[in-house]
Amino acid sequence: MIAQAPQTTSLGERASSPENIDGFGRTISYLRISLTDRCNLRCLYCMPAEGMTFMHPSHYLRREELNTVLRVAVQMGIRKIRFTGGEPTLRPELVEIVRDTRSIEGVEEIALSTNAVLLDRKAAALKEAGVDRVNISLDTLRPDRFRQMTRLGNIEKVFAGIRAAWEVGMRPLKINTVVMRGQNDDEIGQLAALTQRYPIEVRFIEYMPIGVSYEAWRASFVPAAEILRACEQNGVLIHVPQERYSGPAERYQYMGAPGKIGVIHAVSTSFCGYCNRIRMTADGLFKPCLHSDHVFDVKEALRMRGEEGVRDVLRHVLRKKPLQHHMQVPEGALANTRYSRLNMSQMGG
Ligand code: SAM
Ligand code: SF4
Repeated sequence: MIAQAPQTTSLGERASSPENIDGFGRTISYLRISLTDRCNLRCLYCMPAEGMTFMHPSHYLRREELNTVLRVAVQMGIRKIRFTGGEPTLRPELVEIVRDTRSIEGVEEIALSTNAVLLDRKAAALKEAGVDRVNISLDTLRPDRFRQMTRLGNIEKVFAGIRAAWEVGMRPLKINTVVMRGQNDDEIGQLAALTQRYPIEVRFIEYMPIGVSYEAWRASFVPAAEILRACEQNGVLIHVPQERYSGPAERYQYMGAPGKIGVIHAVSTSFCGYCNRIRMTADGLFKPCLHSDHVFDVKEALRMRGEEGVRDVLRHVLRKKPLQHHMQVPEGALANTRYSRLNMSQMGG
């Protein structure tokens, strides 16, 4: 059973500068950057076990180029930056890139998405360089299942990474769990129960149809409503109002619990009307929407025309940002699985 708490803040941000308004009047203030398409894991829902081809690091935007792109983006109204991948901790200059970004006037928040395998060693330096907070992928609490779902991973390293992120003060700390039928859907209750013991947010993400056949995706898809019902087995859930860091998650809390639960229903309900984000790949391709096939090459524009080229590309990205994705309808899901030219690890999740 879910009790309603009063809604005190509004999710939709409104225009602050005309430069960051897209064609549908949404304010775009959040940029997600994939720093590499490589990863030290092979999660079932993200990459095939074998046969991945990765871009050569010489194709990445160089550190100083990335800084120029970010500076222009911030001048145009970007306020929050997330470094992701692939696995961003594999990028050798990650700490320096974070430090460069922190020095850009106008950046309000720097976040990191990581599988945390290497975070134990890197958390202190990343925090010192300027990472405010972290989202850590963790789909199971069982070592054997973790190895099976990631095909490579050692869960103890992830636990050490989570502890390190907490100890250096990365807050709020969020755990991201993609729910797949027959893989980890029987653990929803246990993962949700972590929020009854720890002041963290566990976010359950609907499995998105990217880079797999429609049939394979459909067989493993668990809708948000079912995820929520499984969480309710532990106790009464109170609906939590949206706040600055909640993003697209619908949030809940057990009575008296220190932590929160988030449910990201990207497939079953669209939150495109509130979308405030754009994405960029490691080699400088901007994507206006995770699920659209439009890409805009900022690297070429930067090398040919400097900052003005970057500004023009960003204007195009905002103009081309679609009103919504089409994952809800089967044909839309099918189109995503077939035609999305980039997979999740290239686009930055
Ligand atoms: N390697 C980092 C990590 O795992 O957190 C960052 C990159 S990963 C692509 C970013 C996010 O995308 C992760 O939370 C992951 O669970 C999510 N993700 C990947 N493939 C997905 C899919 N098919 N459906 C839903 N979420 C997915
Ligand atoms: Fe790697 Fe993250 Fe994709 Fe898992 S979800 S394979 S950790 S990029």
